[in-house]
Amino acid sequence: MAKWLAALRTPVGAFSATLLLLVFALAVFAPILWHDNAFAIDTEAIAQGPSAAHWLGTDDLGRDILFRVLVATRLSVLLAVFATVIGVVTGLVLGTLPSLLPRPAARLVTAAVNIAVAFPGLLLVLFFSVIFGVGAQGAVLAVGFALAPAFARLAQTLSASVAGQDFVSAARISGVGRIRLLVRHILPNIGEPLVVNATLGAGASLLAFAGLSFLGIGVQAPEYDWGRLLGEGLNGIYVNPAAALAPGVAVVLAGLAFNLAGETVAGVIGVRTGLRKLAPRTVVPAREAVAEDRDDAVLVVENLQVAFPRPAGWTVPVRGVSFTVHAGEAIGVVGESGSGKSLTGLAVSRLVEAPAVVTADRLDFAGRPLLTTPERELRGLLGTSLAMVFQDPMTSFNPTRRIGRQLAEVAEQHQGLPRAKAFERAVDRLRAVRIPAAGRRAKQYPHEFSGGMRQRAMIGMGLMGDPRLIIADEPTTALDVTVQRQLLRLLARTRAERDTAIILISHDIAVVSQTCERMLVMYAGRVVEDMPSAGTPRHPYTRALLAATLDLETDRDTPLAVIPGRPPEPDRVPTGCAFADRCPAVTDRCRLEDPVLESVGSSHRVACWEASASLSTKETVTAGGAE
Ligand code: SF4
Repeated sequence: MAKWLAALRTPVGAFSATLLLLVFALAVFAPILWHDNAFAIDTEAIAQGPSAAHWLGTDDLGRDILFRVLVATRLSVLLAVFATVIGVVTGLVLGTLPSLLPRPAARLVTAAVNIAVAFPGLLLVLFFSVIFGVGAQGAVLAVGFALAPAFARLAQTLSASVAGQDFVSAARISGVGRIRLLVRHILPNIGEPLVVNATLGAGASLLAFAGLSFLGIGVQAPEYDWGRLLGEGLNGIYVNPAAALAPGVAVVLAGLAFNLAGETVAGVIGVRTGLRKLAPRTVVPAREAVAEDRDDAVLVVENLQVAFPRPAGWTVPVRGVSFTVHAGEAIGVVGESGSGKSLTGLAVSRLVEAPAVVTADRLDFAGRPLLTTPERELRGLLGTSLAMVFQDPMTSFNPTRRIGRQLAEVAEQHQGLPRAKAFERAVDRLRAVRIPAAGRRAKQYPHEFSGGMRQRAMIGMGLMGDPRLIIADEPTTALDVTVQRQLLRLLARTRAERDTAIILISHDIAVVSQTCERMLVMYAGRVVEDMPSAGTPRHPYTRALLAATLDLETDRDTPLAVIPGRPPEPDRVPTGCAFADRCPAVTDRCRLEDPVLESVGSSHRVACWEASASLSTKETVTAGGAE
């Protein structure tokens, strides 16, 4: 409220508010007060100039121009408002349809909007006028539909930007359907810029009506709006210029009122702003069998690939990833940015969308094949059994909805709980993740929570169901060290109490080795080492990651170890070992053949020719010694 008051105190804010108030006051009261004066015909004062009796003169029938301009305010403003509503609603439908329709239909809608946007607005108005006919009704429809493409484009762009946010992914994971996702999570977050643009659109439609009426295809006699008065006034401009000037000034002032009001609102709220085919399988080395598929496997991933189409072919940022997670197990996935670790987590959660293509020989969660299970069943399964904690606590929740309601949505969707019961459960879960004063906090918005609390609430959201797996993607990166520890402890406790498996995705190998019993090291889209956290790393990349880790015992006098060079871009992965250019132990073979991920000990696999060779040498020596 303080921001609104401050905005009203600025010159632009005060001027636009006064002007808008005046326009609406005239729209309401002018026809009541001066209707008769505006229609009174005076044959003795036909087409006169300004006088004391008629300040702006009279028209061809001796009617007072000033009263007619004032009375025309209602119809002019109403037409503009109706047309804007039609434009905004149609635009919103067209703009959000692509996110609800199947892909081919969505493309069709998008293409139609793109074509419509390419046409000048005035041309569209004239085109629709021909279709809907002359008169006020036809003009409203014509101007409304002509405004729609611009709003559709705006809604599409805004929806796309919001659809990529973590809280939308979280809602999808928790099984929220597409329409509900749109209504509850996307529209409230794009509403503000749309409202601002609608006020600007109202100004534009006011001008469009004036143009149409002036051309004689808008409002028809005996009704009249400013455009019609403008047209009539121009016929006698040499006799009485005021007759044309007055409605023109009215159009400009009302348009200005709408536009400046839009600017003021924007200042206050701040505008937040071919057939699908399977990706070609890139040749990946044969894999060792994944850890044995025990009865308690929660997640089995075999030869997972994520591919994106590019003009020059397919880019495959996740290549042949295989691993198994058992109940109650915590595994860490580590690697530098671009290693494919987060994309692997998203693919497992079914959050990778077309045009990207996810393929796998096997991708089973809780015994169900994720790639072939119908979406409806999948929603129920993932909504109750899989929880996701994202990196940025700021974007994990829908900023327009109270935390408690967002948690309760999961119980309403999947357990069919009534609103009040679902909310009670949400409060209980917030309590379980140690949110102080959970009842009060549940009624607060995300921005009232600290970063650590938001992450805990995110885990609480996962606990609304009965999660068998929590995927935490860099959950502590944005938090300070103390809060980091609290969150990791909470994950560990959740795991111990509920036998929930955890996949912790992190670039911090130290955090992973302290929290998980097993870690997968990823490089250039594939797993290069799968080892117990307490084991001795064999891959040069894992060793380099460890050497580059700082701790309290790090010698401050020696230079900090860094890994030279950069990981290859996903579409430029070299032949042979992808780490070859940065590896101190590289050999000719490394540059020619991609190493196979193979077993080098109990629960330890590594993809490195040198590591495998040293093991075989050791085995030979040991075998020789035994003989
Ligand atoms: S395969 Fe060769 S280049 Fe790759 S990590 Fe092993 S030693 Fe280094």
